[in-house]
Amino acid sequence: MRRISIFGATGSIGQNTIDLIARDRDAYAVVALTGGRNIAQLAKDARALRAQVAVTAHDDLLPELREALAGSGVQAAAGRAALIEAASRPADWVMSAIVGAAGLEPGLRALEQGATLALANKESMVCAGPLMLRTAQAHGAALLPVDSEHSAVFQALIGEDMAAVERVIITASGGAFRDWPLEDLARATPEQAATHPNWDMGQRITIDSASMFNKALEVIETREFFALDPEQIEVVVHPESMIHALVGFCDGALMAHVGPPDMRHAIGFALHHPQRRALPVERLDLVKLGQLTFREPCETRWPALRLAREVMQAGGLSGAIFNAAKEVALDQFIVGQIPFTRMAGVVEETLSCLSSHAGHNRDQFTLDMILQADHLARHTARDIGGRN
Ligand code: NAD
Ligand code: MG
Repeated sequence: MRRISIFGATGSIGQNTIDLIARDRDAYAVVALTGGRNIAQLAKDARALRAQVAVTAHDDLLPELREALAGSGVQAAAGRAALIEAASRPADWVMSAIVGAAGLEPGLRALEQGATLALANKESMVCAGPLMLRTAQAHGAALLPVDSEHSAVFQALIGEDMAAVERVIITASGGAFRDWPLEDLARATPEQAATHPNWDMGQRITIDSASMFNKALEVIETREFFALDPEQIEVVVHPESMIHALVGFCDGALMAHVGPPDMRHAIGFALHHPQRRALPVERLDLVKLGQLTFREPCETRWPALRLAREVMQAGGLSGAIFNAAKEVALDQFIVGQIPFTRMAGVVEETLSCLSSHAGHNRDQFTLDMILQADHLARHTARDIGGRN
């Protein structure tokens, strides 16, 4: 039996992962499931999958979790230390699906155990790409992308020589406001931003899709995962979300990954890697689909894309600063403190305030340095956003 842990089990990626493993229950021994405030879901899944331990991120919810797990034999735990302890338990395959930089340290702990880490948490690569890769290498651990675009690139690269890769194109749906008049964006509400035309995802990544901060993070993630130059990475708007990414080779060939917008494909690919197994996703009927369309992304509508290029250029700890400032700006938008169109400004001003942190030797970053930069950026962004 394969020992499995799922960090962020109660979220959108976590639930899709559980859907897959529950179909083949006897193949897996579940070590840890972690979640946040949704104790009922966490306890239900921990019972059904007979997990060793269930962890909520919130200390105050421990009594509720204990009660929900009473008599089940599943251990209940709460808080950051318990999350890190659970992440340090040996497992063969671990899903990293906490949202935000909070997912970084649990993923590193899993890599230190030599586990195969299925990485949905893109923030880990944006904040700490070199540290993630170094840790995986030092412990003989495999790091597999779960973001749909990165899984697509990974699959298109199987059997290929990286030296023959000219470029990588990742697609973006354009999110909720793709076709809105620019002048209406300043009045967009969090509810409007949190409706995605094609994908069913958590609230934060859905709003990040509308602002393209999600794509900005993914451009940086692409660079870190596949060791590409920033100039080799392109973004194209593709409203149908059927092609997830394309790899262009030196002979002019473009290899595209085509599939329905269902994360169980990328999760299942990482779960069964290096094999391919049958997955319960829709089979596309190309004739019914009829046509696929593409557009150039407009940087006036989506300034986050320009910021991603500036971050890659600046290097150093700017990925961690960018992500932390984005998380704060997103919180500020969600609570109504700043308008939708102000998020990019808060991030850009934070980057420029902390520009002296760029340019360090990326290969020597430690977790502490990254967490300090994250902390400083949150503080600075709160200040900047608070002045609105
Ligand atoms: P979600 O909001 O649905 O779920 C997030 C999970 O993380 C929940 O279990 C929540 O309890 C937990 N969590 C949140 N904050 C936490 C904290 N501070 N400490 C510990 N746990 C915490 O999010 P999601 O849409 O499933 O996305 C998860 C990750 O996967 C994100 O990094 C996202 O960018 C990435 N991702 C998601 C999708 C998707 O289709 N949903 C696709 C690609 C990548
Ligand atoms: Mg993606």
